[in-house]
Amino acid sequence: MKNAAEPKLFSTRQERELASLRDLSARVGSDSLLVQASNGNTSIKLDGILWIKASGKWLSHAMQEEMLVPLELAEVQESIRTGAEIASRHAQKDELRPSIETAMHALLRHRVVIHVHSINAIAWAIRVDGPDQLRKRLAGLQWQWISYAASGIPLAQEIEKAVATAPETDVLILGNHGLVVCGQDCHTAEKLLREVERRLAIVPRRFPKPDTTVLALIAHFSKWQFPDVDLLHALGTDAVSRKILKGGVLYPCQAIFLGQTVPLFPPAVVVSKFTKGLNGKDGTPPFVAVERSGVMLNEKMTSAERATLVGLAQVTQRTEESAQLHYLNEEEVTDVLSNGAHGYKEVGVTEEKANSPGEIKKFDGERKTIYHGNACVS
Ligand SMILES: [Zn+2]
Repeated sequence: MKNAAEPKLFSTRQERELASLRDLSARVGSDSLLVQASNGNTSIKLDGILWIKASGKWLSHAMQEEMLVPLELAEVQESIRTGAEIASRHAQKDELRPSIETAMHALLRHRVVIHVHSINAIAWAIRVDGPDQLRKRLAGLQWQWISYAASGIPLAQEIEKAVATAPETDVLILGNHGLVVCGQDCHTAEKLLREVERRLAIVPRRFPKPDTTVLALIAHFSKWQFPDVDLLHALGTDAVSRKILKGGVLYPCQAIFLGQTVPLFPPAVVVSKFTKGLNGKDGTPPFVAVERSGVMLNEKMTSAERATLVGLAQVTQRTEESAQLHYLNEEEVTDVLSNGAHGYKEVGVTEEKANSPGEIKKFDGERKTIYHGNACVS
């Protein structure tokens, strides 16, 4: 794939539209109910060029650093037709590589495409009855439900099939994944995004306050600390959330950043777990949830893991106990975590951690390399 960034004089109109996209990206990326860490992506098609967010970049940083990769749209479409890997040609060191969801952005005919991991949309997208529940809520909009498919070409193919007979579709609910909205310009797309969000909004369930008796014992162990976000305690104190988490993996980012199983322990065993170092074969988890007590964080937790955990708590707090949920199956989870043909292997991704609210520090480099696998974390 040729990078279309060769020196070129952009028209004032193009510059204005790109500025609008950066502005929109930063705004959407800064809303934790829409985007967590590097997930989500935006694009615009301008005169045969697809400008798309680069892999691994955070939308929230759109005004501070360059994150748009220009690609010849015709070449991307040809790659989709021939099944050629779009991303691998951008694998050279230090080069911005297009998002794993480039194929999806390219085949949607609208000029502006916004893909977000909306907490409210995900809370519907994990439900078996999601399509039925949304029929009334999204009535009058041109929307479609897309059953779960791995990010990249598989997801793009499912969307292509769905929009083939309904090209006017501009809202897509991605099963066990998130939301896509489209528009002819940034303003129209963002307005639609806000409208969809308004219709999908769910009031989070209240949850019992944390019991710090056991949590304080954990705090004595080095590297463990109380969370700076109260909401996280719901993963331990809220019985419905615990039941949901025990069911398995709800969406790819959960598996990638937080593991296949949630480290959820009864209070009686938690101290002995810590005394043994919590060093199972999967290593020390970024967090632990203690039944009826709350949550404690590993100080090595990265900012991406933290954002994903907050998102998970927000999703479970918006999910009713009575809802039958659709979890990713073993094969899908393995696929997400593998370095398969459809995904990226993000070697040497800059990891960060946030010990203080709002403060992002460079990670000290001790954590394992993150394999982003087949998921839209980029
Ligand atoms: Zn995604």
